Amino acid sequence: MNDKQLKSKSLDYSVVAKTLKKSKNILITSHTNPDGDAIGSSLALYSLFSKLGYNVNVCIPNNIPEFLQWITNCEKILIYKKESVKAKKIVEEAEIIFCLDYNDLHRLENMSEPIINSKAIKILIDHHPKVENDIDYRFSTTETSSTAELIYEFIRGIGYENLIDKEIAECIYVGIITDTGSLSYLCNYQSTYLIIAKLIGLGIDGKRIHQLVYDTFSENRLRLLGYSLCEKLKVLKEFSTAYIYLSKSDLKKFKYQVGDTEGLVNYALSIKGIQFAALFTERENVVRISFRSKENFRVNEFASKHFEGGGHNNAAGANSYISLNETIEKFENLLIEYKSRLRYSE
Ligand code: MN
Repeated sequence: MNDKQLKSKSLDYSVVAKTLKKSKNILITSHTNPDGDAIGSSLALYSLFSKLGYNVNVCIPNNIPEFLQWITNCEKILIYKKESVKAKKIVEEAEIIFCLDYNDLHRLENMSEPIINSKAIKILIDHHPKVENDIDYRFSTTETSSTAELIYEFIRGIGYENLIDKEIAECIYVGIITDTGSLSYLCNYQSTYLIIAKLIGLGIDGKRIHQLVYDTFSENRLRLLGYSLCEKLKVLKEFSTAYIYLSKSDLKKFKYQVGDTEGLVNYALSIKGIQFAALFTERENVVRISFRSKENFRVNEFASKHFEGGGHNNAAGANSYISLNETIEKFENLLIEYKSRLRYSE
C-alpha cells in the first residue's frame, strides 16, 4: 500500500459500533518504547471505554518514560515485560484489540506472539506509512499530526464526541504536541488546530502540559546534551548531513536514563543547510539509530534498506548489529551513494 492510498482513511463506523456493542472486553495496545502519542492515544481510548462501562485494559511491551507518568490513569497501564502472565490472560480474554500508533504487529517485540495469535477483532489506528495486513479494521492515514488526532476523529466517528472531557482532552493534546515537536512539523492540517481548539475549550491547560512534558530534564541529561553537541557532533556539509554518536561509556559518564537522548537528533537537523541527520547510540549488543530529514529525503526507506528499520518519511528508527565504529563507517559510505539526493535547497 502506498502513501497515496493512505491519504484516504477507511473505516466503516457503523460496523465498528456494532462490534463494540457485541463485546465487553477491550484491550488497547501500543508500541515498544512508547512516546507521548502512544501513551496519550491509549489513555484517551481507555478513559472513553471505561466511562462506557467496558472491561478495558491497556498493555504495552515495555516501560513508560517518566515525562508521561503524570497522565491520569498511567499507573493502570500493564507492562508486558513485567507482568506477562497477567497480560497474556487479558490478551486471551480480549474480544477487541486496538493497535494504536504502530503499523506492524512485530513492533510489539515479546508481546507480538500473543497478539498475533489472538482471535479478537483487531482495530488499527495509526499514521505510519504502510499498514499491517493482519488487521480487521484500519483507520490509517499519513496525512495527520498524530494517532491522537485520529483518536479524536474515531471517537467522533463512533458517536461519542460528547464524552470527550478534560481528562481525554489532555491525553489527546499530549499526543499531538509530542508528535509534532509542539506544532513545528507534521502540523499543516486545519483539522489539527480545529481539534486543539476543542481541547482548549474543554479546559486543558496547554502551558502546564508543556511544562510537564518538556521541563523535566535531569542535570545529567542536560549535560549529556551539551557534551553531545560540543564533542560528538559531526557535520558533513558536502552531504548536507550531520550526525551525533554516543558510546556506552559516554552514556555511563552521564548516568544515562531511558529517554535522555530523546530529541537529540533534531539538534543535528537544526543546522542551516542540513537535510539529513542521524543519532547513533551504542547499547548492549546493538547500536540504536534515529534518522531525521527535511524535504523529500525519505529516511524510512533509507532505514529499511540499509539498517532493518522503518518509520515515517522524515523520522525513522533502526538497529545495527555491528560495532558503533563500523556502523558509522557504513553510514558515511552510504552517503556517497545518496549524494545527488542530499542537496538541501533553502
Ligand atoms: Mn505517533
